[in-house]
Amino acid sequence: MYVELGSAEQKREWLPRFARGEITPAFALTEPGAGSDAGGLTTSATRQENGDWLIKGQKILISNAGTDISNGLIVMAVTSSREAKRKEISCFIVRRDTPGYTLGQSFEKMAWHGMDNRELVFDDVLVPDSARLGPIGRGLSQALATLTMARVGFAILGVALTRACLEESLSYAKTRKQFGRPIADFQLIQAKLADMATGLESARGLAHKAIWTLEQKMDANMIASMAKLAGSRVASRSAKDALQIHGGLGFSTEARVNRLFREAQVLEIGDGTTEIQQLIIARALGCLSSTNLHAKDTMHAG
Ligand SMILES: Cc1cc2nc3c(=O)[nH]c(=O)nc-3n(C[C@H](O)[C@H](O)[C@H](O)COP(=O)(O)OP(=O)(O)OC[C@H]3O[C@@H](n4cnc5c(N)ncnc54)[C@H](O)[C@@H]3O)c2cc1C
Repeated sequence: MYVELGSAEQKREWLPRFARGEITPAFALTEPGAGSDAGGLTTSATRQENGDWLIKGQKILISNAGTDISNGLIVMAVTSSREAKRKEISCFIVRRDTPGYTLGQSFEKMAWHGMDNRELVFDDVLVPDSARLGPIGRGLSQALATLTMARVGFAILGVALTRACLEESLSYAKTRKQFGRPIADFQLIQAKLADMATGLESARGLAHKAIWTLEQKMDANMIASMAKLAGSRVASRSAKDALQIHGGLGFSTEARVNRLFREAQVLEIGDGTTEIQQLIIARALGCLSSTNLHAKDTMHAG
């Protein structure tokens, strides 16, 4: 978002430090009452007489805002008045040390332990207008548009995870013997492996097409959702089958397939759930009636 929306000054200030790995940004859209319906957010930014903005609200589940090197948080906030007919959402950069910005408890998760996820509280956080990222009122649409890339990233994660499931399962099935034969000889095991290999190739093909579409600077909205939907679903199913192929050993938290099973679950949730990807694809197919324009504008893609 810094690259797409940042002013020359914002890029000069933040991008070199991100690129050197000195600091890491985070992206705060989700709130306790606004997940898939990202437009339902209530965190507000109110313009002050001198042009500054006063941010008030709460975010949850935000990745990597609370590490030792986190800084340059991007916050989505409502900038229209309560009486306004149309809700305006804008993006702001909040520095780690800004008074009133506090970090809540880190969430205990079933997987993705390398990532910090927590609640963020904004209690009258004052930022200058130069901290606004992009035009007033265009924050949500711009954020959702740039998140197309993140969906392709999730698609690739799904492909990688499925490949790991296939490799682990194939090697185990060829060596584990029951009834005097490797379990890979049994057709019910073979069916699982064949489904995994087929799912892997189809998800990889879709991910490649989505990457190509992005590289051509064409509209990648639908193909990115298709790639994310396919990649995350095939990863979930393959991880479950991989665990099953490993029998009782797969149930042990020490087994690699057990970790893959846990890691796979978030792929169908983060960056827009499976159901939201289906809705985005259906919308691109022309299924959305004009009476449901709210959903068209605010479906979470991040
Ligand atoms: C590990 C992790 C990291 C995250 N990192 C970030 C981050 O950095 N920044 C950030 O802003 N957010 C982040 N999130 C939040 C994530 O984007 C949301 O969890 C996700 O968008 C879903 O929102 P929700 O959890 O509120 O679920 P809800 O929106 O409450 O959905 C609950 C269920 O209802 C379904 N549902 C909702 N609406 C519809 C509908 N219209 N039709 C059919 N089904 C529907 C959903 O698909 C889901 O199955 C993260 C989440 C996780 C788990």
